Amino acid sequence: MAEQGKATMEKITSLAKRRGFVFQSSEIYGGQNGAWDYGPLGVELKNRIAQNWWKEMTQLHDEIVGIDAAILMHPRVWEASGHVENFTDPLVDCKKCKARFRADQITLENLSEKKCPECGGELTDTRKFNLMFKTNIGPIEGGDNVIYLRPETAQGIYVNYKNIIQSNRMKIPFGIAQIGKAFRNEIVTKNFIFRTCEFEQMEMQYFVKPGADVEWFHEWKKRRWAYYERLGVKMENLRWHQHGPDELAHYAKDAYDIEYLFPMGWKELEGIHNRGSYDLTQHTQFSSKDLQYIDQDDGNKRYIPFIIETSAGLTRTLLMLLCDAYDEEKVSDKGDAEDYRTVLRFHPNIAPITAAVLPLQKKDGLAELARDIRAELMDDFATDYDQGGAIGRRYRRQDEVGTPFCITVDYETKENGSVTIRFRDSMEQIRVPRADLAECIRREIKAYKLIV
Ligand code: ATP
Repeated sequence: MAEQGKATMEKITSLAKRRGFVFQSSEIYGGQNGAWDYGPLGVELKNRIAQNWWKEMTQLHDEIVGIDAAILMHPRVWEASGHVENFTDPLVDCKKCKARFRADQITLENLSEKKCPECGGELTDTRKFNLMFKTNIGPIEGGDNVIYLRPETAQGIYVNYKNIIQSNRMKIPFGIAQIGKAFRNEIVTKNFIFRTCEFEQMEMQYFVKPGADVEWFHEWKKRRWAYYERLGVKMENLRWHQHGPDELAHYAKDAYDIEYLFPMGWKELEGIHNRGSYDLTQHTQFSSKDLQYIDQDDGNKRYIPFIIETSAGLTRTLLMLLCDAYDEEKVSDKGDAEDYRTVLRFHPNIAPITAAVLPLQKKDGLAELARDIRAELMDDFATDYDQGGAIGRRYRRQDEVGTPFCITVDYETKENGSVTIRFRDSMEQIRVPRADLAECIRREIKAYKLIV
């Protein structure tokens, strides 16, 4: 059995399926590699993370606006961006067992000896493999009808940068934020939703004056780090990784990843990149449109802005938060047998259910009273109602999906209108008057600090 208390990918995957967070795509047909479906709690969690990021990026910044660009873009975009030529992974196949590997993910020894890491068979030469999904628009295949599913959301921002300046009178420095689907024909898609062929990104591109880029790059590194702190992530599980010269993408001047200690090791969560003037220079060249910025605050000087990018995976962040929040806590000894509860310690701002209302009993009008109280909370909070089974078991069910507050309605509620709030992390309970309930939840969310 896996070590008690620790998050493993098996436990996370199994909890995600059992409680309706994430299912394998097309499971009844044996599943589709690299694709996953988000169930009722999963879609709530994903939306909550997206809303939280959106608020952080747009609502809290005067100079950052949002956009929602199409997934299908003019194919020239991907020539300009360098994706047609450079967005490749090196690929090797085993001639014997037919296993396929990314050449950069097997040992140098195996690669130079052309030896399969799995069966010892002979490996093929390394080939370049483009990660973009190619399809056709219209009924005729090939030629001018080729179109790509976007492999990143960023290009939708660059090609709209002039539209946004003109329609919203943006002045440098300013940013454009976007959340949306991206597609990559990934060779290795293990580790649940970590690396998938269809995923979502949360990207923000910040346009700055050339020369101000280094300062803004550091500023955005600081802000993105602080963001995870506010989300309640255990900061010892995060670290910086600077790209060395051989890792830097063709467009990047400087790049740092925020890495998270997933159960399978340290892996990239978000990239913060100084892209220089690369993108807008390329689009100027390929589109023959003038994409210079006219700086009215600096004598109408014309220049191509530099871009600082923050690029996070939404679905990867969801996996990170599941792993980070996962806990198995020893709660009491039942004779020799140890009793553990599984609890997802989500920050209340992202928990799929904020408050669950539970009547102590179904009878004596408690169920009706509880439904009534739930109805009062519904407008302001994501709520759940559960009247089935022993109250202790119901608390555990809510713990397992990360509900921070359980509201229990009992006989005292009937008498004096007070209810119990039971806190997920400490399991403490307090009584509050029904009239103060919503305000109390709001206060607790604001003041939330993880206590374990
Ligand atoms: P990796 O090295 O993991 O392939 P990358 O460096 O290609 O990632 P970027 O192109 O910088 O990633 O994408 C930005 C973010 O998008 C990543 O930090 C990650 O969170 C997310 N992401 C990228 N590819 C995938 C994928 N296949 N599945 C899920 N999320 C992804």
